[in-house]
Amino acid sequence: MLLHIGDRVRMRKQHPCGNDIWKITYVGADIKMCCEKCGRIVMLDRPTFDKRMKKLVEAAQPEEELNAIGKEALES
Ligand SMILES: [Zn+2]
Repeated sequence: MLLHIGDRVRMRKQHPCGNDIWKITYVGADIKMCCEKCGRIVMLDRPTFDKRMKKLVEAAQPEEELNAIGKEALES
């Protein structure tokens, strides 16, 4: 699955702080993500991340902006 910095994802297991939504802060061979509630940063390799991720909650903003620009270009 394709990931972007800024994406918000729900993980299968809750963080000890009770939150299960994480924000992606780095995408490469490893994935870095930040707990939305307590701010803890965790690094996982791709296979582990793929196994633990439940779903994408919200895609990163820049993509939405790009879509908006695309629509404007079509209308003009
Ligand atoms: Zn947490």
